[in-house]
Amino acid sequence: MLVMDPKRWLPTTKKEVEARGWDELDVIIISGDAYVDHPAFGHAAVARMIEAQGLRVAIVPQPNWRDDLRDFKKLGRPRLFFGISSGCMDPMVNHYTAAKRKRSTDAYTPGGQSGFRPDYAGIVYSNILKDLYPDVPVLLGGIEGSLRRVTHYDYWSDELKPSILVDSRADLLVYGMGEQPLRDILKLLQKGVPFSSLRTIPQTAFLQSKDNPIPKNKNWETVELASHETCLKDKKTFAGNFKIVERESNKQFAYRLTQDVGDQTLIINPPYQTMTEKEIDASFDLPYTRMPHPKYQKRGTIPAYDMIKFSVNMHRGCFGGCSFCTISAHQGKMIASRSQESIMKEVEQITEMPDFKGYISDLGGPSANMYKMKGKVQEICDRCVSPSCIHPTVCHNLDTDHQPLTEIYKAAADHPKVKKAFVASGIRYDLLVPKDKKQEEDINADAYIDQLVKHHVSGRLKVAPEHTSDDVLKMMRKPSFKYFHAFKKKFDKLNKKNGTKQQLIPYFISSHPGSKVEDMANLACETKDMGFRLEQVQDFTPTPMTVGTVIYYSGYHPYTMKKVYTARSAKEKKDQHRFFFWYKRGERKWIERTLEKVGRPDMVKKLLSRNQKVDQ
Ligand code: SF4
Repeated sequence: MLVMDPKRWLPTTKKEVEARGWDELDVIIISGDAYVDHPAFGHAAVARMIEAQGLRVAIVPQPNWRDDLRDFKKLGRPRLFFGISSGCMDPMVNHYTAAKRKRSTDAYTPGGQSGFRPDYAGIVYSNILKDLYPDVPVLLGGIEGSLRRVTHYDYWSDELKPSILVDSRADLLVYGMGEQPLRDILKLLQKGVPFSSLRTIPQTAFLQSKDNPIPKNKNWETVELASHETCLKDKKTFAGNFKIVERESNKQFAYRLTQDVGDQTLIINPPYQTMTEKEIDASFDLPYTRMPHPKYQKRGTIPAYDMIKFSVNMHRGCFGGCSFCTISAHQGKMIASRSQESIMKEVEQITEMPDFKGYISDLGGPSANMYKMKGKVQEICDRCVSPSCIHPTVCHNLDTDHQPLTEIYKAAADHPKVKKAFVASGIRYDLLVPKDKKQEEDINADAYIDQLVKHHVSGRLKVAPEHTSDDVLKMMRKPSFKYFHAFKKKFDKLNKKNGTKQQLIPYFISSHPGSKVEDMANLACETKDMGFRLEQVQDFTPTPMTVGTVIYYSGYHPYTMKKVYTARSAKEKKDQHRFFFWYKRGERKWIERTLEKVGRPDMVKKLLSRNQKVDQ
């Protein structure tokens, strides 16, 4: 077993704090995930950033909330504040399936064991801290805080909940990626500004009495959302609120938002500008050990860590704006890209890891091929209110040049200790099917696909058409299925030319708002015609803060205010899902009956004709 010096990690126990010669801590981070000292884990990124400011910080990972709360007391009270990050996933998504069944494993815990964090973890942790240390400020961050910062639909309790600040009693919420707000918060606290006076830090939210005036900031205009209580009474109003929240989350120069809730007012300050290359490099270049804390050595591997330990994240943000996805609500629409130098430095670090066998598992990002992409004319982007840069069509102002990305792929592949550098993140194929030869040359699409398919696909390339019906795809803010056909044609041609047998693995979703049984039958027919037996399929999960979730709850599309059909009952959802498995003998009769019931007997023949093998 590898012997590791715990002093290389940030302290997690009193003994480790003392070993650093510290008699007090400035900040204590409570984490719902196990402590993995790697930039992909939010608690580590934030704690390393606090350390870099010269402050004393410790992490309490996965504290026991069911005993005498000794984990919350063991490090005493911090000088500045407690920070909470309940994990890389919303705890409810982590704990339950789309069918609301409890999961038996947790990828962010050693041994994949479940039961190491509570449901609604941020609320539970914060209340414990507020009871134990009423006078120590609590700062709530992470995905859970971000996605629950304003009135939101909670699928698991099937109700609208107010901002998480109400139930958690936290003093301040940081949404999005935490480095920029934290940098300014720490700077002000170090200057002696009281925590309660931090009222105009961008990308933060807080509650104040309705009687107090809105804090002054001459650079921000303020927009008032409908109150939480009005949303409870009127689903359409809730849908309308979402449109404003989404628009302001993605704008370059956004408004400050306010929302009354009970006798308080929620204030959400606008986000920071997109991180510069220097800023994002600084975050990734912090002295991470890139490994889980050694205390977990006897508890088994951490599945989420195993998945990413040899991978490199090259950028943050996603301009896709897919209606079921929360990435832009958390990381924003604009892309923050690392420099090639910083990326290659991380590749070098990976090659030095003791169990590295020569394979980088992913050179990726939220979408693999958005690296360095941005508006050609920034002033146009500065005024833009679109939630997506590529839906309904790729924006004429978006520079989709793939060359910088191709260069990094080549540099990683050329590293003497790298046998293969794979791309496992999903790619946006609609960016790779330009309308003519000239555009193809401008964006270097063919050179990119060629490099990708020849050198960076492990046999299977992930793509996410998500549906085949154009009406549903429009609802999902996804490109027409014709783009998938066009990309597959290119992909197959390259395979032939290179003599390779790479496969495309398409991902699909059932029960998304707008999807009917006939659409699922159509999906089954189309993918059957293309020769696919689908394996990567999932049922729509209404996570907080997506367009899809707002439609699921309210029945209205927040941008058009038109009613949208949505499969809601367990039976409706299950029925849609069954169409993925049309080739199973046990499903034939049911599919036949269902399609006849919805008046589409024509599809029965198309889908169940015997010219393809049917599984037993
Ligand atoms: S102008 Fe185009 S590229 Fe710029 S943010 Fe808007 S949609 Fe995106």
